[in-house]
Amino acid sequence: MLKYKRILLKLSGESLMGGQGYGIDGDVLERFAMEVQQCKELGTEIAIVIGGGNIFRGVSKASENMDRVQADHMGMLATVINSLAMQDALERKGIFTRLLTAIKMEQIAEPFIRRRAIRHLEKGRVVIFGAGTGNPYFTTDTAASLRAIEIEADIIIKGTRVDGIYDADPEKNPAAILFPHISYIDILKKNLRVMDLTAITLCRENSLPIVVMNMNIPGNLERLILGEQIGTLVSV
Ligand code: UDP
Repeated sequence: MLKYKRILLKLSGESLMGGQGYGIDGDVLERFAMEVQQCKELGTEIAIVIGGGNIFRGVSKASENMDRVQADHMGMLATVINSLAMQDALERKGIFTRLLTAIKMEQIAEPFIRRRAIRHLEKGRVVIFGAGTGNPYFTTDTAASLRAIEIEADIIIKGTRVDGIYDADPEKNPAAILFPHISYIDILKKNLRVMDLTAITLCRENSLPIVVMNMNIPGNLERLILGEQIGTLVSV
């Protein structure tokens, strides 16, 4: 029995870098595609949002002197590059996919149309949402929340390189404690930097649960979908 019938998987751009300092690591991409394939075989409907931080971020050193909107446009295009790479990795595994972008670029992807996205999911295609929300001053975490709500996903799964949400940064503080569950309001109150506040607020207002889990442990995604307690659940 599937615990989650329709999921939205959020992967950061940085997670695609692997050990490199920039860009896309083919092995990581392959590994993530394998995780998605396992879940697809269970019959879960899967949508994916990928960030762009491995290539360009609107709020970064490189864009310091740039117009913010211009820089954010570059960031959104970076997410499309990552989305194309993920689409390729999935299709090499024989998985049918569609890339839908929030900024029109019809030679390479379909424009985002909600009903079409849902139809693709129902037909068993993995849907990748590119170009974030299509608006500057937002993040792909917010895009993930927005799209998950629009497609009526059962959950957002944020794949990270740590096991979930801790009371402190586990990469800096080895004594940090993992929360198996936390409420939206506690994330806001404790100012935990899990997802940006707009994304958390959107999930809270629409009662969309989030799971934060380690994407680098093989089989984690599948176990979560089958109902195991993995990572941290964020809900009311
Ligand atoms: N971005 C944007 N609007 C959106 C989503 C993303 O302008 O709706 C831009 C923004 O500049 C951001 C960059 O795209 O810095 C990459 O996205 P993000 O930082 O969320 O990527 P991640 O941290 O997940 O790799």
